[in-house]
Amino acid sequence: MVESSDQAALRELARSVAIREVAPRAAAADESGELDGAAVKALADADLFRVTIGAEWGGLGLGDVEAAIVLEEIARFDVSTAICCQLAFNGPSRGIEHLGGEVLKERHLPGVAAGEHIISIGITEPDAGSAVQNMRASLRRDGPDRWRLKAYKNYSTLGHAAGAVLVWCRWPGGEGARGIGAVVVPTDRDGVSVTGRHRGMGIHAATEAEIAFDDVAIGGDDVLLAGDVDSAGPFKTLLAHLNHERCGNAAMCIGAAQGALEQAVAYAGDRVVGGRPIGELQGLQWKFADMAVAIEGARLLLGRAVRLAGPGGTPPPLETALAKTAANLAAKLVCDEAMQIHGGYGYSREYPVERAYRDIRGLCFGAGTVEAQKNFIGQSVARGKATTSPGWRRRADR
Ligand SMILES: Cc1cc2nc3c(=O)[nH]c(=O)nc-3n(C[C@H](O)[C@H](O)[C@H](O)COP(=O)(O)OP(=O)(O)OC[C@H]3O[C@@H](n4cnc5c(N)ncnc54)[C@H](O)[C@@H]3O)c2cc1C
Repeated sequence: MVESSDQAALRELARSVAIREVAPRAAAADESGELDGAAVKALADADLFRVTIGAEWGGLGLGDVEAAIVLEEIARFDVSTAICCQLAFNGPSRGIEHLGGEVLKERHLPGVAAGEHIISIGITEPDAGSAVQNMRASLRRDGPDRWRLKAYKNYSTLGHAAGAVLVWCRWPGGEGARGIGAVVVPTDRDGVSVTGRHRGMGIHAATEAEIAFDDVAIGGDDVLLAGDVDSAGPFKTLLAHLNHERCGNAAMCIGAAQGALEQAVAYAGDRVVGGRPIGELQGLQWKFADMAVAIEGARLLLGRAVRLAGPGGTPPPLETALAKTAANLAAKLVCDEAMQIHGGYGYSREYPVERAYRDIRGLCFGAGTVEAQKNFIGQSVARGKATTSPGWRRRADR
């Protein structure tokens, strides 16, 4: 897909910062389990946290296309650092800007744009992962425009480093999807505690935290979107906003896969077995072909989903689910084959493909699993819903 000159310049900027500042520090950050402060500062100094936030709050006011460009370029070298940008571009700050009140915007957006403030996402609970409407997080009334929050969120990426958490929770009297809304809670508020951090297979520098909210005071200014006990409307609005995050997740998968393919090609050019570089072997070139087909297919689907969002809009659900599924599956195939092409060294931490293989695996769970996306795609197709492809006949035309 053709990029404008501004988009191409943004890609070039993100790529150069990633090569110079992110790539050389990524392996050490993975080993240490913490983001590299110098890499994050370099992104902030290049204004790369400002991409999607409105100019009023210190951002560049760009959209999902530009967010995907930057995420792809950073994840090509390091998924953990890209996740930091993903939270700023497509995480709670998007919701705050679109749905939040003035206090919430002033409180959070300038810090996110400057790369100094992380807002983590608290949706998943031990008994409410894919079936998020089963969540127990709830508010009880504590006066006019005042509530108390009780919640336990068990997968909040970068929750241990966050200044605030977006918490999906149920308003008093709601049941199932009815009554679910969201609040944004500063982490220094009484009753908020990080109770643990996951030791996952990958994404070691941007781990997920478990966070308890024990009778935390919530005021009207903390409310992002109030739940409605008579309707699932607010819950559906929150779900629709996740399409930004899904597109960002897809962009990171495509970036990591592109990086793994490039490393595999370079390795295969250097590695001589039986007197010639293994890159000349047709059996391995077929792997490159499969990898390129998977990456390019996913990239085209993502390009369509983010372009359909338009300025200030949200990527459409079906096109987003297609893109996220294709990108998750492409990344799994490509990173696995890239490791295989490296032979035994691909399994060693000396080569970045080993980290990419571990990191992208986590992305296949976040923002809705592959199975959840396929459920939605399958149901949509079965019901005769059409994508925006001209070749897809609408039910009425058949
Ligand atoms: C690296 C990482 C980062 C994450 N970051 C965050 C975060 O920042 N904030 C947050 O709130 N959450 C986060 N999560 C949590 C993530 O959103 C959940 O893991 C995901 O929604 C699945 O929930 P679960 O783990 O409880 O699995 P479950 O819901 O228990 O599902 C288990 C398996 O069953 C499948 N399954 C479930 N229901 C169906 C169905 N109806 N049909 C077919 N298959 C089904 C699932 O796809 C999965 O394979 C993160 C997870 C990971 C791994």
